[in-house]
Amino acid sequence: MSRDYYEILGVSKGASEAEIKKAYRKLARKYHPDVNPGNPEAEQKFKEIQEAYAVLSDAKKRKEYDTFGRVDGMGDQGFDPFSQARGSTRWHEAGPFRVGVEGMGGFGGFEDLGDLFSQIFGGGKPGRRQPRPTPRRGKDQELSVEIDFREAVRGTTVLVPVQRQVRCTTCGGSGNVKGSRVCPACHGAGVVISSERLRVKIPEGVRDGSKVRVAGKGSEGGAGAASGDLYVRIKVRSHPFFKREGDNIRTTVPITFDEAYLGGQIEVGTIHGPVRATIPPGTQSGQTFRLRGKGVRSLKTRAYGDHLYTVQVAVPKVVSPAGEEAARRVAELYRGNPRDGLPLGL
Ligand SMILES: [Zn+2]
Repeated sequence: MSRDYYEILGVSKGASEAEIKKAYRKLARKYHPDVNPGNPEAEQKFKEIQEAYAVLSDAKKRKEYDTFGRVDGMGDQGFDPFSQARGSTRWHEAGPFRVGVEGMGGFGGFEDLGDLFSQIFGGGKPGRRQPRPTPRRGKDQELSVEIDFREAVRGTTVLVPVQRQVRCTTCGGSGNVKGSRVCPACHGAGVVISSERLRVKIPEGVRDGSKVRVAGKGSEGGAGAASGDLYVRIKVRSHPFFKREGDNIRTTVPITFDEAYLGGQIEVGTIHGPVRATIPPGTQSGQTFRLRGKGVRSLKTRAYGDHLYTVQVAVPKVVSPAGEEAARRVAELYRGNPRDGLPLGL
């Protein structure tokens, strides 16, 4: 005997048909792939349960199993409720939406699966087919999108591939067609997986790690229930020059010795384009200046942040005799040690 079907369903050898059915429903609900996305153990368990029920729910097969400990065409020969669907079934390995419902064939003979799945997806009490009380709202979904620094600052529109659970149009979500026949399109699940490309507007000023909500684009709920929402998590690629700090932008700008010493006008690059700025005489290397309103537009207040630039005095690398002479003369004019008063140790 390869597997003990009674043990799999957790029932005794003398279990009644009703007890077997009840045990099966309970386990199938627990291990169904849609309730355990991305869980291969649950998937395996689900298959075992299907196999055990296929045998024990059939009086003839059960008798054969009780007598010989096996049933032809079952067990190790590979009874596989998913086999017929393989190839056409879309098991979405990528992303967080690994759901396998669409095209799931091979449940021949499981007439009450529609009822079973309607309990999983639509809520409701076991054994009651109609009507379904308080349909459950569809699940929210989340996915990630990476955008450029410039797109985050300016706002953009992205096209995102979404796989979501939608109501089956063949059976209208009931899982059954023509009374009690299991719907061939969704195989009783009442839902199928739809692949769409959604256009999502990303607002100006969006921050790295924030989420954009697209209302109603998560999984569809049971008949009459609201759909879940789609959340698009934004990952913003960094920029080599512009650094973001909240709604402010920071950059480092080199200035010449004479611009620092004598002061001058320089052009500072901002996310809004070049801005003319004044460097006051006697500017120190490392000093930071503020350009108001030249930062990122705040998502909350819609006001613009500031641009903060830190100047760095670029000292010429080539020392010429004339330059050396000039530097010595400046030094003579301004005697004094800038390190006066600094501690020289702990
Ligand atoms: Zn259907």
